[in-house]
Amino acid sequence: GAHIELQDLSKSYANLNAVEKVNLSFDAGEFVTFLGPSGSGKSTTLMMIAGFQVPSSGDIKVNGNSIIQQPVHKRNIGMVFQNYALFPHLSVAQNVAFPLEMRGVARNDIAERVKRSLAAVRLDKFGDRRPAQLSGGQQQRVALARALVFEPPVLLLDEPLGALDAKLREEMKFELKQLHQSIGATIIFVTHDQEEALTLSDRIAVFNHGKVVQYGTPEALYNQP
Ligand code: ADP
Ligand code: ADP
Repeated sequence: GAHIELQDLSKSYANLNAVEKVNLSFDAGEFVTFLGPSGSGKSTTLMMIAGFQVPSSGDIKVNGNSIIQQPVHKRNIGMVFQNYALFPHLSVAQNVAFPLEMRGVARNDIAERVKRSLAAVRLDKFGDRRPAQLSGGQQQRVALARALVFEPPVLLLDEPLGALDAKLREEMKFELKQLHQSIGATIIFVTHDQEEALTLSDRIAVFNHGKVVQYGTPEALYNQP
């Protein structure tokens, strides 16, 4: 895992402050949840960390180094998007290979790592399928395999369970917890579901109107007298 610091991180669109002076620090290997209602700035914060959005001001540091000048593929950060954002015209294996191709990894290496990554999410038999030929839970696992294939020390998950039915969500929650323990990455998980936040997180940052209004362990936030 990697240590992450958000310093006075802000993003505005026209006259809307989507994210306003967020200051947070995460230890290497922590499972952190951004919890808050729709529109509170959680996704925008993740997108800035991943490099898909440019901050209006403030800084993002990974292991002490500012990353805000780095393009997406130079950041060692994996991301799973809300609706998985799989490329529909590519096979499952090609989707998983994509971040490796962006990073200029050698062909032989790519094949090997894609195989390993698909096996890790139990989809080794599905490499030749198109995303549309998979269930929601399977597509979610492809998105996870794609985010993990370059073994990033930081993994960002934007409501990855939101599109799943209740039973699958329970299963995936359990798998996420196991995955976190096995890979040791620093995970930032976005949800508006309090129960998900409580069961998964080492720490929770509560967002409201673009600001972090509370930050602490689940116990500290919810067992107050
Ligand atoms: P959350 O992830 O908590 O639902 P977002 O970060 O997606 O919140 O959005 C925060 C605020 O920024 C919302 O008011 C949203 O409408 C606005 N917003 C997000 N992206 C854009 C954009 N590309 N252009 C304009 N406003 C945006
Ligand atoms: P550009 O902005 O030049 O089109 P990007 O670097 O933003 O290229 O990446 C293009 C697409 O690839 C993005 O829309 C994103 O969905 C996908 N992508 C890039 N890196 C990742 C990643 N690490 N995990 C998942 N998808 C990624």
